[in-house]
Amino acid sequence: MKTLYEVMDGSGEDEKRLRKAGEILKAGGLVAFPTETVYGLGGDALNPESSRRIYAAKGRPSDNPLIVHICRFSDLERIAWDPDGRAALIARAFWPGPLTMILKKKDTVPMETTGGLSTVAVRFPSHPAAQGLIAAAGGFVAAPSANTSGKPSPTSARYVAEDMDGRIDMILDGGDVGIGLESTILDLTEDEPMILRPGYVTQEMLEEVLGRVSVDRTILDAASDRRPKAPGMKYRHYAPKGELAVVEGEPGRVTLRINELCQKAAAEGKKTGVIAADETAPLYLADSVKSVGSRADEEAIAHSLYRILREFDDEGVEVMYSEAFPSKGMGQAIMNRLLKAAGHHVIEA
Ligand code: AMP
Ligand code: MG
Repeated sequence: MKTLYEVMDGSGEDEKRLRKAGEILKAGGLVAFPTETVYGLGGDALNPESSRRIYAAKGRPSDNPLIVHICRFSDLERIAWDPDGRAALIARAFWPGPLTMILKKKDTVPMETTGGLSTVAVRFPSHPAAQGLIAAAGGFVAAPSANTSGKPSPTSARYVAEDMDGRIDMILDGGDVGIGLESTILDLTEDEPMILRPGYVTQEMLEEVLGRVSVDRTILDAASDRRPKAPGMKYRHYAPKGELAVVEGEPGRVTLRINELCQKAAAEGKKTGVIAADETAPLYLADSVKSVGSRADEEAIAHSLYRILREFDDEGVEVMYSEAFPSKGMGQAIMNRLLKAAGHHVIEA
């Protein structure tokens, strides 16, 4: 399949590009597009055949449900139930934006889209190109991240093309994404609201609207033998090709330990990489040292993490060590993705 590549340039032509992309989706095809979190791989959420194609293009296990993207508040009630009004409250507070809700689904949504579940994940993104595309496609676009299953989510169209060229109908290039980590997932199907995947919208922010909100225990806990409630969170994810471990402990010791580990790997002839922060990056001796930005700037860390993991792949780095980052606020999302990328391999310094 030839993949069309369209660059959104802010001109009047963008309207035409979105219309063309919308026609592809209506006809059952697949289009990758920018959102404020990461690039999505879109298909018509109400067409079972489109969902099947999404799973095939990503190589994604078919029990891992897709998020349905909408572009009008009023469309929520066409696909999901909100028996107690909590979904409306959350929508008003965080939509459009990086927040996904899990709700009981209505019959309009095919089981292929929800991975066989009776619940559906719904999000209303804030990115203008995403909104334009969803509207052009008829209002309901199923879109997981536009990466091959298991790889880091794409934060620019270049990475989408690396994974999806020849496998989908079109890539809409809208430049680099803003946030760089996937949306927060909030389960509203039980009495107590629960965060199934941390993201830019934090527990504290949700508690301001809903009162108590819990966090799925499996999120930062490698030892937990419970199944995560979001089926996708059980899979190895966001992973670079090389081996990655997170080194935790007192900062000075972390630096020493990582340098020791890199020296050992180098002696075995392996190419080494380190993920550090601006404050500590100059202290490392490795083939490739990358900074996620200043420790004080969580948004910068979120923004650069997946790009850095992909850059290590491109450079052929075989062994990587990362500093740990604080797991408060959005740091919870950052640590969750980093630990998953590392397959929960943690070393105490
Ligand atoms: P992605 O689309 O790649 O950002 O992944 C979507 C995430 O949402 C996966 O971890 C899914 O398991 C999760 N998800 C989607 N729908 C549901 C649902 N109905 N219940 C629980 N988790 C869901
Ligand atoms: Mg994904």
